[in-house]
Amino acid sequence: MNVDFNKNEDGLVPAIIQDNTTQQVLMQGYMNAEALQKTQDTKLVTFYSRSKQRLWTKGEESGNVLNLVSIKLDCDKDSLLIKVNPQGPTCHKGTDTCWDENNTSTYGFLSNLEATIESRIKAADSEKSYVASLFAKGINKVAQKVGEEAVEVVIEAKDDNDDLFLEESADLLFHYLMLLQAKGFKLDDVVSVLRSRDKK
Ligand code: AMP
Ligand code: ZN
Ligand code: ZN
Ligand code: ZN
Repeated sequence: MNVDFNKNEDGLVPAIIQDNTTQQVLMQGYMNAEALQKTQDTKLVTFYSRSKQRLWTKGEESGNVLNLVSIKLDCDKDSLLIKVNPQGPTCHKGTDTCWDENNTSTYGFLSNLEATIESRIKAADSEKSYVASLFAKGINKVAQKVGEEAVEVVIEAKDDNDDLFLEESADLLFHYLMLLQAKGFKLDDVVSVLRSRDKK
């Protein structure tokens, strides 16, 4: 990667960090050649910290690391766009992004899965994606699938095969998330209803 590190006297270029799933801009830091190399070698985003005056692997204390997905150089080779899968909130103040945006991953892995389903539906590539192909068949098909998986959960609940019960439970949850999307809702909408009942 032919980065122009000499444009700035300090040998640093800005690195913009973007969530590979939600596409949110998470944070910005600086890299020198060494930081970039370490990022590529370890697959964990590593900056040069101007305050610490040393290489800084994001998450080295908090555990909230940024798992490298891809690195892109801009038109004049002096700025990096880095896509990542973040582990936990990126900002040390606890939000997903350093611009104080609401946490989108309130439900952890399920929120990421929800975002993946959404992007598959938007891309609408029925040949490549099961989600897209089921979605293309219409909302009734998605709802029917939820019904089928629910029945399978009921059947497996009577058995004592834990593995099958968990497999069918995962199928149900996955298709239920799809149905929510198809209806234009998020998991958070359902949780809001549950929360309001809790208060009563
Ligand atoms: P971490 O790398 O997440 O273990 O955090 C170590 C320290 O780096 C924190 O105590 C902060 O001072 C700083 N820090 C962590 N995350 C950020 C961030 N997104 N932007 C700026 N500084 C950060
Ligand atoms: Zn540039
Ligand atoms: Zn921050
Ligand atoms: Zn099933």
